[in-house]
Amino acid sequence: MGGATVAGYYARQISNLLIRPLNLVGAARCECPCCGWRGARFLNYVGYDETLANYVCPRCGSHARHRGLAIFLDRYAAAHEAPIRVLHFAPERGIAARIAADPKISYVTLDMAPHSVSVRGDIRAIPLRDASFDLIICCHVLEHLPADGPALKEIARTLKPGAAALIMVPMRSGWENLPTLEFGAPQPRLSDHWRLYGNDVAARIESAGLCCKSLRFSSFLTLQERERYQSGDDVIFLGTKTLR
Ligand SMILES: [Zn+2]
Repeated sequence: MGGATVAGYYARQISNLLIRPLNLVGAARCECPCCGWRGARFLNYVGYDETLANYVCPRCGSHARHRGLAIFLDRYAAAHEAPIRVLHFAPERGIAARIAADPKISYVTLDMAPHSVSVRGDIRAIPLRDASFDLIICCHVLEHLPADGPALKEIARTLKPGAAALIMVPMRSGWENLPTLEFGAPQPRLSDHWRLYGNDVAARIESAGLCCKSLRFSSFLTLQERERYQSGDDVIFLGTKTLR
């Protein structure tokens, strides 16, 4: 970052110093379904070039998408017969703690980094048996890979027939009418992402042998719930392995 950008970054960080005391006295309008925190408002996310207001949980660090996903997972688990075996790649702290505490769920976490996961491994060569999971969670992982096809094939391999993967990826603005934007290299100013996804996500998932449908948060959360959780209206791609 250049000098002016660095100065701007720290100036924008100051906004969070004002939010913390507000949460001591303000009415608790917001709630984090990942960790149970309640308060007047979430912290701002301060990135290289942008500030996302009311976005980060002060207790567990959840972002908007994690809070919508947490509610979806609750409802998904409630609608399926227990116990369910779940595989979660690069698990987010708040969601992981919540799933791990659910006695109905047998939970396996996987990442390249050995700390804080149950299995060390690469999503492109998952060191686990075929057809062994009832649910797979892959939230903002695929954009970090030079190609997403090998990872999607491994997800399909490790799902049980009839089981589903919940896949979330960063979408480009106007994505419904635009193809995925491939950068050809990781972008340092975009958290080292190789691409911003477009209207071909479902086709990519189906190329791996899964049936895909997409769900916006607004299809299962009311406006009042999205306000309380500050979840935004992201898209979950639900890739289901067909029964053979
Ligand atoms: Zn939280």
